[in-house]
Amino acid sequence: MKKISLVIPAHNEEDNVALIHQKIKEVFSGLKNYRFEIIFVNDGSRDQTQQKLEELSRNFEEVKFIEFSRNFGHQPAVKAGLDCADGNAVISMDADLQHPPELISEMIAKWEEGFDIVYTIRKYPKQISRFKRKTSALYYKFLAGISDVNLREGGGSDFRLMDSSVVDVVRNMNEADVFLRGLSNWMGFKQTGIHFTAGERASGESSYDLQKMMKFAFTGITSFSVKPLYLAAYLGFIFSAIAIFGYGIYVIHAFFAETEISGWASLIMTVVFFGGLQLIILGIIGIYLGKIFKQVKERPNYIIRSKNF
Ligand code: UDP
Ligand code: MG
Repeated sequence: MKKISLVIPAHNEEDNVALIHQKIKEVFSGLKNYRFEIIFVNDGSRDQTQQKLEELSRNFEEVKFIEFSRNFGHQPAVKAGLDCADGNAVISMDADLQHPPELISEMIAKWEEGFDIVYTIRKYPKQISRFKRKTSALYYKFLAGISDVNLREGGGSDFRLMDSSVVDVVRNMNEADVFLRGLSNWMGFKQTGIHFTAGERASGESSYDLQKMMKFAFTGITSFSVKPLYLAAYLGFIFSAIAIFGYGIYVIHAFFAETEISGWASLIMTVVFFGGLQLIILGIIGIYLGKIFKQVKERPNYIIRSKNF
């Protein structure tokens, strides 16, 4: 009998863990030929999530949990689940039921057809703010343009099935900043996608605020592209050219005109402009430098406090 592992990161999801377990159980009662396990990764929850998970795992042998020593973030939590899962296929999904469990059978069917990765293409429902929908679409377009990771519009979803051979590859990757959406696209293999409409959170609140989203977005870009680093060189060339041109005009003017060129205002503007530009470029270099710093320390992506398997 083939085994399917479900990896579910949970950060303050006390009311959702039992619910999603129930839903997944229902799905698998219709899939008689498969065994399944659910690996919950408690990512430093400050509510009753851990107690709920311990209770669940006492009552149901298919429920397993990993407890982190603190909050490490969604991506490290998924990575931890993948590291520990031993199913023939692994499905990662959110705990808040925004990823409909009903899709699981369709994903497994695609996997049985021979696909190694079954990703999902998320369509936002109308309730999700226009701002989030637009920025998300724009972001993936930008990411596709700047790197060789092409996530289709809204394709950035961490609801995904991976064959165990793919999971092996992910397990052996040693990136300080994990960005699984990009990685799974970058790895290749035989992939296919299925569409779904993200539902609303069953209960609790989203842990992603604007700041976390920005950080996530920067991680995605700087993990898969070094193009922003070229920006400094390009801008340097452009502005040098402008400066040489301007200097030429000044010299000609000095010889042939009777009036002097004055203007401290334009001078200040130029200084401020280039000051800003240099700070931006320094910032970009800083981000990459920070990544190298993180990588060379070789700290683990997460620390496990307890685990029931
Ligand atoms: N999550 C996590 N660690 C975090 C933030 C979120 O493990 O620091 C989990 C969360 O419990 C959920 C999933 O990641 O299962 C997606 O998070 P959320 O629903 O808050 O994000 P959104 O759906 O709003 O993008
Ligand atoms: Mg959510």
